[in-house]
Amino acid sequence: MKVIIVGGVAGGASCAARLRRLDEKVEILMVEKGPYVSYANCGLPYHIGKVIEKESSLLVATEQMFRAVFGIDCRTNCEAVAIDAKNKTVDLRNVTTGEVTTASYDKLVLSPGAPSIHPPLPGIDLPGIFQVRTVPDTRAVVEWLDKGTDFLAGMSCYTGMQQSKPTTRAVVVGGGFIGLECAENLIHRGFEVTLIQKPDHVLTPLDPEIGSLVQGHIKRHGVKVVANDGVVGFKQLEGGAIEVQTSNGKTFPADVVILAIGVRPDTKLANSAGIALGERGGVLVNDQMITSDPDILAVGDAIEVKDFMTGEQSLIALAGPANRQGRIAADVICGRDSRYRGTQGTSIIGLFGGAAAWTGVSEKTLKRRGDTDYEKIYLFPNSHAGYYPGAKMIGLKVIFRKSDGKLLGAQALGEDGPAVDKRISALAVFLQMGATMDDLAEAELCYAPQFGSAKDAVNFAGMIAGNILRGDMPVSHWESVDGAFLLDVRSPAELVMESVPDAVNIPLPQLRSRLGELPKERKIAVICRSAQRAHYATRILLQHGFTASTLSGGMLARTMKEIAATK
Ligand SMILES: Cc1cc2nc3c(=O)[nH]c(=O)nc-3n(C[C@H](O)[C@H](O)[C@H](O)COP(=O)(O)OP(=O)(O)OC[C@H]3O[C@@H](n4cnc5c(N)ncnc54)[C@H](O)[C@@H]3O)c2cc1C
Repeated sequence: MKVIIVGGVAGGASCAARLRRLDEKVEILMVEKGPYVSYANCGLPYHIGKVIEKESSLLVATEQMFRAVFGIDCRTNCEAVAIDAKNKTVDLRNVTTGEVTTASYDKLVLSPGAPSIHPPLPGIDLPGIFQVRTVPDTRAVVEWLDKGTDFLAGMSCYTGMQQSKPTTRAVVVGGGFIGLECAENLIHRGFEVTLIQKPDHVLTPLDPEIGSLVQGHIKRHGVKVVANDGVVGFKQLEGGAIEVQTSNGKTFPADVVILAIGVRPDTKLANSAGIALGERGGVLVNDQMITSDPDILAVGDAIEVKDFMTGEQSLIALAGPANRQGRIAADVICGRDSRYRGTQGTSIIGLFGGAAAWTGVSEKTLKRRGDTDYEKIYLFPNSHAGYYPGAKMIGLKVIFRKSDGKLLGAQALGEDGPAVDKRISALAVFLQMGATMDDLAEAELCYAPQFGSAKDAVNFAGMIAGNILRGDMPVSHWESVDGAFLLDVRSPAELVMESVPDAVNIPLPQLRSRLGELPKERKIAVICRSAQRAHYATRILLQHGFTASTLSGGMLARTMKEIAATK
């Protein structure tokens, strides 16, 4: 059997290697139009910031290795330019010589990825404007930062002894993963960074209050964020700098510009073969990665996937799914019954030592779908036991189904990146297994004081949800407390920092003796800092015949909402 694989990075390379492990006899030809296969595109922004110093560290495997270890005919600088699906052949162009040859296949796997969006804006091709997708792209950025203009080259004369250092300015366009990672790395390189984005908060898969919190976090680390604005053009300035122009009429001078406004599935080859595309513009595949042509499979960023939670078609450009899909394609070619379960969108981004992460469905997606069968909770647990040094707060939002208690999604942000990773990764597994919030409460997770708490954040989320679902702790949210009697059970000292107008303060230790001050005929929404004391108070009130609820996330959730409203 002859298999041709187009694209030699995440999806393509994992497919090729798995195929060989499963079948020693299959003839495998893997073509990659760029000069490298199997490189670490996820590491590229960190090479810009010199966190990953050597470019060679990004080259995970080489063409030679694929040939020697896997017996794969691996060709770099070789572009698949057309597919003849009827005769099962692919035209291959040698990128260096221009020569075109034809190769035949029994099965063809497409993993061409999704190139960065490059809109036809005035001046977009000026020197100093870059995208970050490949190793050569990144090399070009690094070279420009070092010596792209006389001004940038002059920075190498700065020794630290001079009284001042001229400001180097970068503009990053786009507040997704790649934009944020580039922004952080340019800050590491000493640039003053302005990030311009159309949406009102960064990382749009997140709900607005969590996205705004992330935005606040990067602002605190020096990134200037310009939201609700789009770039409309670029102008050359003297000395090699660029003026970035926005739709709101603002201009930003920059010594370097990184464009990170998203990616679009590469469907050129699929079109040449007459393969069906989906409603979102990606290659349509079934759960075995087979396209509308039974002998052509497709994986990775170029395809549409089923959203695991909603069943909707979606485009999700992530390395984990691409790798798993490549493996499944190899299994299927070898006659195995492997199937893709769909994508949850589980993601994490490191930001200045902290991290934001999420999995599953967001509240805004539920709202868009008109789905009201859900409840949400906000909790702010410590990354590990509070008494052990170094504990940092995690902001966690967990969404679950009211009717059956199933976990639907979670989003988190914290200054302890690995702690955020641990919680969202655990919740992602629960989600894929169809777990209920009771399953979370019962989860037996690792615990020692430097790593977690005897009742981990994941357990806590399950316990809180269980209390809500069983009616032990009615819950309310800031957006829905109008008309309620607001009872703040924090200590007076805490009110000095922030207080809620119209809320009545009865500190928790005094509550039992002051119940007479509270109205029996009104709904009481109980406030504290994070909702823990409010829960205790709610339990007291309910057992004394009051109609009470706990304001989820307390004052910390209110702060998030305020940031989201004022950004
Ligand atoms: C800067 C950056 C950072 C990222 N960080 C993360 C991260 O932290 N976490 C995460 O999950 N994901 C991350 N991603 C996304 C992740 O890298 C992609 O989802 C994944 O690589 C997709 O795999 P793929 O095989 O579909 O495409 P790619 O890995 O992009 O590979 C496609 C390859 O196909 C080649 N090709 C295209 N057309 C042809 C043709 N006609 N003939 C021959 N070759 C062709 C291309 O040159 C390309 O090398 C990042 C991506 C980038 C660019």
